[in-house]
Amino acid sequence: MSALTFENLLRHISHTIVCRAHGTPPQNVVIHCATCDEVIIDLDADGESLFGLVPLKPEPPVMPPAVAAVPVAAD
Ligand SMILES: [Zn+2]
Repeated sequence: MSALTFENLLRHISHTIVCRAHGTPPQNVVIHCATCDEVIIDLDADGESLFGLVPLKPEPPVMPPAVAAVPVAAD
């Protein structure tokens, strides 16, 4: 379980954040707020990723600004 929303992360500003592995070899990694005693991110070694926990919203494509043609002076 992870608390991956803007509002949830904002609550931990200036808190003490710790990253710990569990198991030998590590089977789980947790990012934990020691100040609140709250797990922020908890991922297992079985291939779990943040991308599987957070639904991704497709962003609209950003078009680069048009580059104006610069005339080149002839010698
Ligand atoms: Zn906190």
